[in-house]
Formats: sequence, C-alpha cells, structure tokens
Amino acid sequence: MKRKGILFIISAPSGSGKTTLINKLIDSLGGLSRSISMTTRPPRSGERDGMEYIFMEKDEFLRRKKKDEFLEWAKVFEEYYGTPKKYIKHIVEKGQDAILNIDVQGAMKIKRLKMRSVYIFVAPPSMGMLKERLVGRSTDSKREISKRLKVAKEELAHFSKYDYVVVNNMLESALESLRSIVIAERCRIRRK
Ligand code: 5GP
Repeated sequence: MKRKGILFIISAPSGSGKTTLINKLIDSLGGLSRSISMTTRPPRSGERDGMEYIFMEKDEFLRRKKKDEFLEWAKVFEEYYGTPKKYIKHIVEKGQDAILNIDVQGAMKIKRLKMRSVYIFVAPPSMGMLKERLVGRSTDSKREISKRLKVAKEELAHFSKYDYVVVNNMLESALESLRSIVIAERCRIRRK
C-alpha cells in the first residue's frame, strides 16, 4: 500500500525563530515539503512571491475562500492567511510529509478535519527574548511589534492543545528535538 504523508503542524508566536528552524529541519531530513500559504499581507523585504508565501489582494483571497480552496484559513494581525488544499493533497499523495507553519486558530481547524497530523508548538525561551528577536529583525514597526507580543501571549496559552512543545532556546537543540519528533512519528504504528 502506498504511504500517505503526515501533516506536521507547527505553530509558534511570530519571532520565535520557527522559520529558520523549519528551513533547517527540511534541509536535514528527506521527505518533507513546506506548505506555501497564501496571504494578503504585503511581502517583507527579501520575501519573494511563491517562495515564503503566495501574496495576493484581499478580493482574490476571499474569492478563493468562497470557492473552498483552503484546507484552513485564519485572520492574523488583520491579514488573511490560508493553506491551499490542492498543494497539501499533492504532497501527501506523493507520500511526502508536509510542514504547515500556521497559527493556533488554523491548527485547531485542521484538528477538526481528522487528518493524519502531528501538532508541534515552538515556544520562545521567554517573552523578553521574543521581544528582543522581534526588535532585532527590524522588519516590523513598533506598533506591529506590540501587536505581535500581545498575540504571542494569547497563543502561548494554547500550547497544551498540541502533541509536543519545543522551546527554541538554542537552535541546534531545538532542531534536534524537531528531528526526533518527525523520525519517531514516522515510525509510529498506532495513530489517534
Ligand atoms: P508572518 O506574517 O509573521 O509570516 O505570519 C504571521 C502568523 O501567521 C504566523 O503565526 C504564521 O504561522 C501564521 N500563518 C502563516 N501562514 C498561515 C496559514 O496558511 N494559515 C494560518 N492559519 N496561519 C498562517
């Protein structure tokens, strides 16, 4: 029987270093594909359409939402983000595992779909460290940073709904934890 891929759902407050972690995870383990979300948020400097996200106007996003093109979608920081159904289907049917870097609302929507999925929460070592990282990457305005910190606090309260929590203190050890989770889940016999 052909293996169907697993969905690895990774949520983390903005600025917790999850993008770097996910990129390293994909580079270090075979058979993992990153889901590319669609969003109405404008690209940050260095972001390219079709790489980090597929960027689009709100009208276009809402048209796709109406056509039920998203596996899940959410409004985060006043912008829409959604996971394209077609893309995920393509990955898992090829037997690849998919990594979905999505927020808590989106993760809980996928839970309701009863798909074969594993939920991982990446937590920053502390709120102070999170603030430092958000300020340090200097891609967001002061107002944007305080909004992101407020949402981070709310998101942290949901970590117990996940299967695993990885504290991103040292990149290498967080990466090792993530790799171990993926490897163990691939060997799992029984699934919930
Ligand atoms: P950022 O704008 O910093 O790239 O992402 C903001 C938040 O949106 C992050 O928590 C990220 O995980 C989440 N996000 C990105 N893509 C999606 C998506 O397709 N669905 C949902 N629900 N959240 C997403």
